[in-house]
Amino acid sequence: MNSKNNQFSDRAKELRALLNKANHSYYVLDSPEIADSVYDQLYRELIEIESINPSLITADSPSQRLGGIPSKGFTNVDHSIPLLSLDNAFNIDELKAWYFKAIKLISSEDTIRNQSKSPHLICELKIDGNAISLRYENGILTSAATRGDGNTGEDITTNVRTISTIPLRLLLKNPPPWLEVRGEAFMPNKIFKQLNFERKNTDQPLFANPRNSCAGTLRQLDSKIVASRKLDFFAYNLFLPKNWEPINSNFIKPKSQSEALKVLETIGFKVNTTYEIKKDLNEASKYYKQWEVKKNSLDYATDGIVVKIDKFDIQNILGSTNKAPRWAIAVKYPAEEKATKLKKIIFQIGRTGAITPVAEFESIELAGTSVNRATLHNAKRLASLDLHYGDTIVVRKAGEIIPEVIRVMKEFRIDDAKLIQLPENCPECHSHLVQESNEAITKCINSTCPAKLKGLLLHWVSKASMNIDGLGEKIINQLVIEGYVKSIADLYKLDINSLLSLDRMGKKSANNLLHEINESTKKNWHKQLYGLGIPHIGEANAKALAKNFHSIEELFANAQNSPENISNIYGFGSEIKDAIIKWFEDANNQYLIKELKLIGFSLKETNLNYNSNKSTLLNGKVLVITGTLNSLTRDEAKELIENAGGKVSSSISKKTDYLISGEKTGSKLKKAEKLGVKVINENDFKLLLLKS
Ligand code: NAD
Repeated sequence: MNSKNNQFSDRAKELRALLNKANHSYYVLDSPEIADSVYDQLYRELIEIESINPSLITADSPSQRLGGIPSKGFTNVDHSIPLLSLDNAFNIDELKAWYFKAIKLISSEDTIRNQSKSPHLICELKIDGNAISLRYENGILTSAATRGDGNTGEDITTNVRTISTIPLRLLLKNPPPWLEVRGEAFMPNKIFKQLNFERKNTDQPLFANPRNSCAGTLRQLDSKIVASRKLDFFAYNLFLPKNWEPINSNFIKPKSQSEALKVLETIGFKVNTTYEIKKDLNEASKYYKQWEVKKNSLDYATDGIVVKIDKFDIQNILGSTNKAPRWAIAVKYPAEEKATKLKKIIFQIGRTGAITPVAEFESIELAGTSVNRATLHNAKRLASLDLHYGDTIVVRKAGEIIPEVIRVMKEFRIDDAKLIQLPENCPECHSHLVQESNEAITKCINSTCPAKLKGLLLHWVSKASMNIDGLGEKIINQLVIEGYVKSIADLYKLDINSLLSLDRMGKKSANNLLHEINESTKKNWHKQLYGLGIPHIGEANAKALAKNFHSIEELFANAQNSPENISNIYGFGSEIKDAIIKWFEDANNQYLIKELKLIGFSLKETNLNYNSNKSTLLNGKVLVITGTLNSLTRDEAKELIENAGGKVSSSISKKTDYLISGEKTGSKLKKAEKLGVKVINENDFKLLLLKS
């Protein structure tokens, strides 16, 4: 075996062990150790290794088995028709690949080639519950079973009889000798939350999600407990004896999945009515995208959609593998949690000198975007993760939330892996790092550290401060390294020749940049104040300071003589007051103020109306913006709102007063509608401003 084969073999062994352990926790203990998306990702990796190297497939590989092993506490039931799982697609491209493969297989069959060139599809929600099989004899429920390993399940008849949406007798005249219905038993979200609340209060272990709590409930030995947990059921499959034909009955033998769903409803089952017939893939993709947003408004968990070829005769041509039918595919929603390999930790020094560990890892797709780095914030977080070189980590990103490393998969750690610790010296200037008394923050206290200067300059040119377009990280790095810039004020002393000496800087860009730098001297007082980078003075605090003190001199005088005027500002307190006093005590900062004034910065309030206390319609209101506005950028709209006394938030909650909805809106609009938040368009917003 060569070294590549060895690597594959080791990895397959590692994955087998981990997935088998995860299967045990999931199917037997009903208590998963890893997220489903992490399981799916690792399972797929194993399948890929096994398909390239079939010799690595072992009898104990999870790829060779479906689901779990039926538990010993229940009588076993053999499924007369195997109860299979579904193959998975994780995006629209994979859905397309499944579809075209199916079309190719169908079109090789002469008999129905013409009618099946583009067969109709039926899209259903993928209910995140537990598949169960129900057998009716002469119209009476006689047996109910879990899926188990697909061939043998557990007899859960007594428990299933307690589910009120499962008929004990079918609403069917002249029923067939036997009939099988399959579908998903599930625990509604409301019941799941209530159950976990009660378990928490009685110190019992919590269920990880509604699917696992439903599985645990179905396998309860006491059916009274099952009855109390109010499980529910959606039926989606119907099997009838081949040669049986309804006589004087209230239904027609179905020829397609859509007809079967109608029959199931007629004979007394609850069917999920969100299903839709689609004539092509494009329509199916739209259904998927729609439900990716709408799913949050449902009272049950769904982790994707299931796309099925509607007609039974075409389904029969396609048949099944030993794990899943070829005529159906589950398209899962984008994962919010995945495992990846840590490449390295970089230690960044920010403008305040605080060191921030940042994890760089192999790129992964998370919640629909590609991610390869995540901040670990501080030394405390680094230590709590217990990160070692070469670790496999789990990264989470939900919707618009920034990615975070949530844990390490110690199962994959090699024996002699080295612990990653904070360096003792600054990675930029090599001076000794100092731990602050509150212990979370470790700092470089060298006032001339180039990393701090770069951080400060980046802060000064950022959108919320001077908004100098074209002055990004690369140029700032060069300006500092070449020695052209040693302080904020030096930016205003740059000339065309020094800019032209920088890498890839043309005459036009250099002139534009000089113009932008000059223009920035006209920015508002609160933006100038924010740009100075005083610790704890973010955008909102800079505005509050600017409202209370109308010039840098006034602020300085108060810091020296009446510091309580600073700490008394709503939301400030003594920590912020002390930071401001300390900032003014630094001779470099006093010198910077002098220089900025000479350059032409006002460092004072020039707009007399700014501090007016008149009440406006937007005073104290919280607004969220979604989609593209026609006549304003997001920043412009934000500024207008803030000047009218309102606050802009990035996410919708019950506290939101208005959602300004532009073009091409996304999930925020749906959420606002759900929460009853008032939605206004761009014109309504302008009217509100006029009235303000
Ligand atoms: P699955 O959950 O990916 O999907 C198949 C199932 O979907 C079917 O068996 C059926 O029960 C259900 N389903 C829901 N709605 C349906 C509909 N409208 N039509 C048809 N079927 C529908 O596959 P699975 O085999 O049930 O379970 C495997 C999955 O379980 C894995 O992909 C993983 O996500 C999870 N798992 C997680 C862990 C863990 O440790 N977290 C361990 C083992 C398995």
